[in-house]
Amino acid sequence: MKLATKLIHAGAEPDPSTGAIMTPIYQTSTYVQEAPGKNKGYEYARSQNPTRKALEDAFAIIENGKYGLAFSSGVAATDAVIKLLAPGDEVICANDMYGGTYRLFTKVFEKFGIVFKYVDTTNVVNIESAITTNTKLVWIETPTNPLMNITDIEAVAKITKSKKLMLAVDNTFASPYLQNPLDLGADIIMHSATKYLGGHSDVIQGALMMNDTELRDKLYFIQKSCGAVPGPMDCFLVLRGIKTLGVRMKAHCENGKKIAEWLKSNPKVAKVYWPGFEDHPGYAVAKKQMRDFGGMISFELKNDSVEEANRVLSSTHLFSLAESLGGVESLINHPASMTHASIPREERIKNGLSDSLIRLSVGIEDAEDLIEDLNKAIG
Ligand SMILES: *Cc1c(COP(=O)(O)O)cnc(C)c1O
Repeated sequence: MKLATKLIHAGAEPDPSTGAIMTPIYQTSTYVQEAPGKNKGYEYARSQNPTRKALEDAFAIIENGKYGLAFSSGVAATDAVIKLLAPGDEVICANDMYGGTYRLFTKVFEKFGIVFKYVDTTNVVNIESAITTNTKLVWIETPTNPLMNITDIEAVAKITKSKKLMLAVDNTFASPYLQNPLDLGADIIMHSATKYLGGHSDVIQGALMMNDTELRDKLYFIQKSCGAVPGPMDCFLVLRGIKTLGVRMKAHCENGKKIAEWLKSNPKVAKVYWPGFEDHPGYAVAKKQMRDFGGMISFELKNDSVEEANRVLSSTHLFSLAESLGGVESLINHPASMTHASIPREERIKNGLSDSLIRLSVGIEDAEDLIEDLNKAIG
């Protein structure tokens, strides 16, 4: 079955009791049993909920996986993966990943004795040379936030398979429409479903997808034991979001390309970060592992000052100044003062994240309107 069809029908079965075409929101905490231990497969809603089950089936299908698990947020999904580990275990991860992932690793899990090594994963040799006998997991993100760095998933999977390590990929930026890491050899996919899967900036949720049954059982055990499960209403919203992922992503990609090219030709713009440009260092890998290049773009102004960036950021009308991404509406963000403010300035600049860097989550409005909005703001 082709992706566009899968996105509409994934996990959707008519409701057995009424025939309702849309999976109902089973707003219940428990299920009545016929006799002790005799039930319909549902006992208590932290462990099972029919709306969540429909969504988890959909998660598996859209990433070409066997299993899906839903969590109350993207970071709760990441948290569950790290809970597979024990004190002394080592994780190799990217040096420019999502700030919340970095915070979870350094501020929560380090104190439990899990060791995190941050390397530039765009060169897989760096991963290989960081491996020790204690390494258990490699955690990558591609494209990265906000510099759109690309890591070769297949090349990393070759290394992790040969060393019997787990490979987890944060696929939030690409979405299953652009990239399917399980097909490229990853063991676990993580999504912040808050972003493109939900697609309408109205829900916080996370997802894990995998193929291995033993791994699924371990992660399900963590999901029900730690309890970071999403409510049925949130599951319904993400199920609904997934149905339009195909048409939305197509529009995000089309608008993204137009805006990236327009920015590149603007004399006030110094540099545009978008993996669809042939001079982007990750272009060849992106072309190989992604179906298109998406609607996430970062750019720097020629006038590289926080003041000038602030002026532009406060002057757009269609692009709303906000954190997050992946919704139908366009957002504009200033990583240096917003999403990446917790990184010391020196460190941030060393990693290539300048004071004037502006990140766009290009929505699905009319591209001409969006360009006019940016043109007025950049001035
Ligand atoms: C937002 C985001 C997360 C965290 O997800 P939440 O749903 O906010 O908990 C993780 N990774 C990436 C790339 C993100 O953009």
